[in-house]
Amino acid sequence: MDKTLHIVGGGMAGSEAAWQAANMGVDVVIHEMRPKVGTFAHQTGNLAEMVCSNSFRSDDDEQNAVGLLHWEMRAANGLIMGAADRHRLPAGGALAVDRDPFSEHVTEVLRAHPRIRVEEGEVSALPDDGHWIFATGPLTSTALGQAIQAETGAERLAFFDAIAPIVYAESIDMDVVWAQSRYDKGETEAEQKAYLNCPMTKDQYEAFIDALLAAEKTEFHEGETAGYFDGCLPIEVMAERGRETLRHGPMKPVGLTNAHKPEEKPYAVVQLRRDNALGTLFNIVGFQTKMKYGAQTEVFRMIPGLENASFARLGGIHRNTFLNSPTLLDDRMRLRSRPHVRFAGQVTGVEGYVESAAMGLVAGRFAAAEILGQPLAPVPQDTAMGALIHHITGGAEAKTFQPMNVNFGLFRPLEDVRGGRRGRKDRYKGYTDRAKEAWQGWLAGQETAALA
Ligand SMILES: Cc1cc2nc3c(=O)[nH]c(=O)nc-3n(C[C@H](O)[C@H](O)[C@H](O)COP(=O)(O)OP(=O)(O)OC[C@H]3O[C@@H](n4cnc5c(N)ncnc54)[C@H](O)[C@@H]3O)c2cc1C
Repeated sequence: MDKTLHIVGGGMAGSEAAWQAANMGVDVVIHEMRPKVGTFAHQTGNLAEMVCSNSFRSDDDEQNAVGLLHWEMRAANGLIMGAADRHRLPAGGALAVDRDPFSEHVTEVLRAHPRIRVEEGEVSALPDDGHWIFATGPLTSTALGQAIQAETGAERLAFFDAIAPIVYAESIDMDVVWAQSRYDKGETEAEQKAYLNCPMTKDQYEAFIDALLAAEKTEFHEGETAGYFDGCLPIEVMAERGRETLRHGPMKPVGLTNAHKPEEKPYAVVQLRRDNALGTLFNIVGFQTKMKYGAQTEVFRMIPGLENASFARLGGIHRNTFLNSPTLLDDRMRLRSRPHVRFAGQVTGVEGYVESAAMGLVAGRFAAAEILGQPLAPVPQDTAMGALIHHITGGAEAKTFQPMNVNFGLFRPLEDVRGGRRGRKDRYKGYTDRAKEAWQGWLAGQETAALA
């Protein structure tokens, strides 16, 4: 079989995957459709173009999960992080990037690499053989999207995300909230208590609706047609349709009894559902929204029990092509039905420049190791990379799967560390120390395999 690695899409993930694989000694072809075929968001023909903000977010590798991901990518000689560091702009604790020199640098380095060739043009089918990584991003071309759907089933490739906010379990006030599924449905106790319920009085509900209606909203980008469909309307749009709509929809109070105050019938109830197998994250059911982030935090903290909520991610609705990875990909990012095809980047259901580049880094290494016949262990779950891969390929609920940023809620809890807000600093340091050691171990194992 031809030992060339073909990478479709030269964005954040595809560029990083190409760099990693080529440096391991594999010949790479990057197939990039721009500038021949454009998207509504990209402006240039450069590789690794930043389509919107110029921020790589926090660079704190001791107290922040995305900062830890930066650290892991730097330790692995990541091209995207190297280019970001080189074209860094002053931005306090964040890593802001001078976008044009950044993507020009990535383009030049990849085009100059002796093992990398860039071919312009759209790829519109899944290949029958060879070694492939598809890193075509949130704006995967229509023809390729259709080909992927033909392989996976239409319901397993989404074209819009509909993200409800996700709350850290430890920040929910369990003196107010109680665990119960509607009508106690379910065979086991775990199922009968699968939801956390936040009760509202009439006054609280009315104030909440007022706040929703008044909150600042984000607009869809030009060219990004609104994909509302009735099962998935933003909550503020539901509230605009009538003040009672939410009380008859996601906030209906029926089939629930407040365990703390059984005699009081709530006027409305907000439900939270477990979002990961670890039980560290809960999403607010049916609360997808286009409210601005600042407004979301204020409005959602009006919900009884969530006054001190910390959010692992806030809600949103965007044009975003992504796979139902928990059912489709294995822990080495291979498509289960065609293992010679890998996916990487935002199309796997991670979100953000950094997370996408990170998934490119591991997909590139996995693909190259396979081509070279070098054994490569799965990425340790205790690293930021591993926590993300574990989440998208198995830890997340497949039925409600939505794109995810890296955050500490994806990490296995530490033993012997204090919970709650007070223990947060030590806990985060514990996560990042544990991750760094595990990541260095994984990289060293790979170097040993290469020398053998
Ligand atoms: C409007 C918009 C705004 C965003 N804003 C932000 C933001 O502010 N911050 C942030 O962190 N993230 C943002 N994102 C998400 C961002 O796009 C990703 O985080 C990141 O770019 C994903 O990297 P990627 O490599 O997976 O995809 P991309 O960087 O999009 O790269 C995919 C590449 O594949 C190419 N391609 C697609 N289909 C084909 C095909 N069939 N054949 C060949 N090539 C193909 C595309 O031209 C593109 O170059 C935004 C996304 C959108 C759509």
